[in-house]
Amino acid sequence: MTLFILILINLLKILTMKLSLTLSLFLSVHFFAAAETADLKLNAVSTSLAPPKKAKLVVGIVVDQMRYDYLTRYESRFGEGGFKRMIREGFNFKNNNFDYVPTYTAPGHASVYTGTTPKYHGIISNDWYDRTSGKMMYCVDDDNYQSVGTPSKDGQKSPRKMTVTSFADQNRLHTQFRGKTIGIAIKDRGAILPAGHTANAAYWFVGGKEGVWATSDFYMDQLPSWVVSFNDEKRPESYLKVWDTAQDIATYTQSGPDMNDFEGGFKGKSTPTFPYDLKALSSENKGYDILKTTPFGNSLTTDFAIAAIAGESLGFDEDTDVLTVSYSSTDYIGHNFGVNAVETEDTYIRLDRDLERLFNYLDDKVGKGAYTVFLTADHGAVQVPNYLKSVNIPSGYIDMDVVKNALADFLASKYGDGDWIENISNFQVFLNRKLISDRNLVLVEVQASLADFAQSLPQIFETYTAHDMLSNFYEKGLAHRLQKGFSESRSGDVIISVNPGYIEKYSSTGTTHGSGFNYDTHVPLLFFGAGINHGSTFETTYIEDIAPTISALLGIAEPNGSIGRPLVQAIKN
Ligand SMILES: [Zn+2]
Repeated sequence: MTLFILILINLLKILTMKLSLTLSLFLSVHFFAAAETADLKLNAVSTSLAPPKKAKLVVGIVVDQMRYDYLTRYESRFGEGGFKRMIREGFNFKNNNFDYVPTYTAPGHASVYTGTTPKYHGIISNDWYDRTSGKMMYCVDDDNYQSVGTPSKDGQKSPRKMTVTSFADQNRLHTQFRGKTIGIAIKDRGAILPAGHTANAAYWFVGGKEGVWATSDFYMDQLPSWVVSFNDEKRPESYLKVWDTAQDIATYTQSGPDMNDFEGGFKGKSTPTFPYDLKALSSENKGYDILKTTPFGNSLTTDFAIAAIAGESLGFDEDTDVLTVSYSSTDYIGHNFGVNAVETEDTYIRLDRDLERLFNYLDDKVGKGAYTVFLTADHGAVQVPNYLKSVNIPSGYIDMDVVKNALADFLASKYGDGDWIENISNFQVFLNRKLISDRNLVLVEVQASLADFAQSLPQIFETYTAHDMLSNFYEKGLAHRLQKGFSESRSGDVIISVNPGYIEKYSSTGTTHGSGFNYDTHVPLLFFGAGINHGSTFETTYIEDIAPTISALLGIAEPNGSIGRPLVQAIKN
């Protein structure tokens, strides 16, 4: 009897469904008779709320210090399976930019994954002056936590200074913590900030005499067995080999001569020229730390990422996992050798091969089209200013100690003797607010007079006060970029920017980054894999658009401080 009723109910259900289908079809045809078939198809597809083909794994790749023009400059040097595969199969945003200052590593990584800028996520630099303690603090240092996997203090880290979620956090919340997050980079900050607050793990490389991947007890009490096994294999030792060019050095025509005056090189070798015997040089260059400044640091990172995919079974089930990989060695090499170096060209040739190896592994283990990859950078870099000077391009170095003395003299002459300046860091001046208050001065007026004076100094481009940043809304230009990088609670009283082509006093060789100019802000943005269209655009996009795009792809909430927009051209509908 019960069975009979069930069958009857089901028959009725089917009849009702058919009726409603017929009705809706009739209505559709009636109302949309004039519409193109394609439009009907689009409507039919877009009624589904779930993304068309949800990635089992999202792999976020940040190449530390990768300028956009490395893609075009080295194009002829790349194979088919790395950068070129991403461009051939995926979407290439050719005019993707940072729109805040400062363009440093920690803010860069935080912004890529949180869809917002330092104003909102609080990571205003790699390290910054803390008014409360009167000391500099490092973005991921946290002595509430202990090292795991190293006897050193290098594991006493957490993401807790970042005040918002990353898209990896949102994926964790969305999947009831079934979808995993693993963060990997040679640099601790490159692993920790992308992975967010709820990551299963973030791992970074401890060099020196150890040569191991380690973490913090923020994540776990002991290393999982796959990490122990990886460390036991002593792979870093196998990379202490001779670094010679991957191809005949005569073919490195995208760079200047190997021997020039603009490169740093390694201690223990008189010229910055190939080949480099890393084993022989390691003792004078902090042991395994030397690997960080070679392309083998990227290869080691790739090895470890592949071990993580296997060890954590990433992308093996329907709950999307997130793997964040940051290639730090490109940055160490850039700082040491500069933009125009054969060493840099060789590093990108080899990184391209590492990417191919990673993608091939993902094809094999997760499946072609079952994972989504994006690749971007945390900032670009300026050409070595001494090199630019040598070819008559205005550029140079500004000595912030000289600037500090000039500012201090000005304040003393205007307001009387006193330690008016607590700190200058990241081109921000922190005034002694207690002294200002004790002398019954108005902070905003002191800020303004100092900013006006600073503006008159050589090579200083623009200055703004904290009050300017908080009381105005700058829609474009450098002021806009400074404002998006300005945190009321963490930034200084006077913000200085220097002329294009100028950097803070540095070694006479190598390069750096940090400005709001295009050499520091214009970086690659490539997507490929599950849910991604093929195409390219010169439309201007911003770094904070990446996280909303991944959120849209996965059908998850955007990170909670996100101010970007999904890049709809890239997403299959
Ligand atoms: Zn960086």
